[in-house]
Amino acid sequence: VMNAMAAPLIEQHLPDWVEPRFFRSAEELFELAPSAEIGWFDLYQPSGMDKAIRLATKLKWLNSVYAGVDFFPLDVLRERGTILTNGTGINAITIAEYVVMGMLTVAKGYREVVRSQDRHEWLLDSPGKVELAGSRALILGYGAIGQKVERMLQGFDVEVVKVRRSAGEGTLGPDQWRAQLGTFDWVILAVPGTPETEGMIGAAEIAAMKPGSTLVNVARGSVVDQDALIAGLKAGTPGHAVLDVVTPEPLPADHPLWDVPNAHVTSHLSGRAQTKMFERSVTRFLENLRRFRAGEPLQPQVD
Ligand code: NDP
Repeated sequence: VMNAMAAPLIEQHLPDWVEPRFFRSAEELFELAPSAEIGWFDLYQPSGMDKAIRLATKLKWLNSVYAGVDFFPLDVLRERGTILTNGTGINAITIAEYVVMGMLTVAKGYREVVRSQDRHEWLLDSPGKVELAGSRALILGYGAIGQKVERMLQGFDVEVVKVRRSAGEGTLGPDQWRAQLGTFDWVILAVPGTPETEGMIGAAEIAAMKPGSTLVNVARGSVVDQDALIAGLKAGTPGHAVLDVVTPEPLPADHPLWDVPNAHVTSHLSGRAQTKMFERSVTRFLENLRRFRAGEPLQPQVD
């Protein structure tokens, strides 16, 4: 089963042994789900996805275009032995570019620069005089996104420390970064939204950050205690937050976070390089179809 939006991209490439069934609404998806063996997911947080998966008792493989897996009932999939492949890496470049943009926006005071143009005002001084070179960044989550961010920051001569679940050579483990938190100018969140990462940046971590430093979140809103962050921003620690993901989404128009002057809020848009992203997903999906048919392991699988 596939969302009808995917039809023009994928239909002509599907091998003969696949019988595609496209759905246009949640109701159509619920109807098709019980007979589906392979599922293609490309709607962002659609209502009813949980119900559809519970109905899809024959589902052997679920493919998500997106990297995040927090909207799937992982326990149900695991119990049934359904393979889940996700879109990790597919939009890592565009997200990493957003992270660098956020850092440069803060370093160069670019928001103020743009506002001065809106006012037709020639500034006599620069609102941002920070150089990225020589600054220190902590990347929490060293997967597809974290690794791309590191590569880009190396070009700016930023000193990078990175953290992953399984600490290894050159990376810290989940419990090894807190003691050094106050030494970083930039804290970049690129972990998945899981029970382990929920509230990872809480009141204690916010208080331990370097005054004037910047938190960049391209992971999930759930990773940060947002109320504690708002209080911290108002007090100056951190000095700025660049937030592509927040709680809840969409952020209601009257939410206080919009008006925190040192919060840079964007609408979960850092990963939207649509055409290239879908081209990459289709290529990966077709290769996985071949592997599925041949009984070979699919890539990348979510454990
Ligand atoms: P990956 O799975 O490639 O990387 C995740 C990284 O996080 C891995 O290095 C993993 O460690 C690490 N990690 C997991 N749990 C912990 C933990 N408790 N403590 C420290 N590190 C941890 O994912 P991606 O890089 O592709 O994406 C990361 C997340 O970014 C996605 O899950 C999604 O939520 C979010 N995202 C946001 C988008 C947006 O538009 N803003 C778009 C795409 C993704 P290890 O390497 O040891 O497994």
